[in-house]
Amino acid sequence: MENDIQNVLFTEDQIRHKVEELGETISRDFEGRNPLVICVLKGAFIFMADLVKRMTIPLDIDFMAVSSYGQATKSSGVVKIIKDLDVPVEGRNVLIVEDIIDSGLTLSYLIDVLERRNACSVSIVTLFDKPARRSVDLEPEYKGFTLPDEFIVGYGLDFAEKYRNLPYIGILKPEVYTRP
Ligand code: 5GP
Ligand code: MG
Ligand code: MG
Repeated sequence: MENDIQNVLFTEDQIRHKVEELGETISRDFEGRNPLVICVLKGAFIFMADLVKRMTIPLDIDFMAVSSYGQATKSSGVVKIIKDLDVPVEGRNVLIVEDIIDSGLTLSYLIDVLERRNACSVSIVTLFDKPARRSVDLEPEYKGFTLPDEFIVGYGLDFAEKYRNLPYIGILKPEVYTRP
């Protein structure tokens, strides 16, 4: 697995420091608001776990899994809910935890769903952001690192379901993509 990595973009230490910072800021902002912290599976699972450990206020957690309907409908931002929340969001201050925002289509759909369910507020924290690729008007309240248009893996993020367990963020060697 390590052999497939061309270079390390963010080390474990760099990620840890950033997640600590985010946890402190978000704890301050959400003090007294008992946020419902929602992990968007699967990519955000490691970030979510590390982030909530750095949050020092009472909160609830839940999980959601979504998938794109495929190429034809992708541009419309219609995503399918594979696993829905277990708890109602009505009246809650929701914090969506994402691994990475690319086009922003997935998230803008999710925000819409949660707002229609009458969440009191919906905020976003993403560890990585690729603003150059955005196709909808969406700016996360909290973000870790801004990236150029490069495909990253590790720390929860996959290529063909692999590499999620790398503790750092890396870029794959080009030959990995063309492997049969
Ligand atoms: P969006 O709807 O913003 O275009 O899609 C975001 C989703 O695409 C992310 O949650 C992630 O699953 C996937 N994605 C976007 N960029 C990358 C990347 O650089 N690496 C990986 N592994 N997944 C990505
Ligand atoms: Mg994601
Ligand atoms: Mg993926």
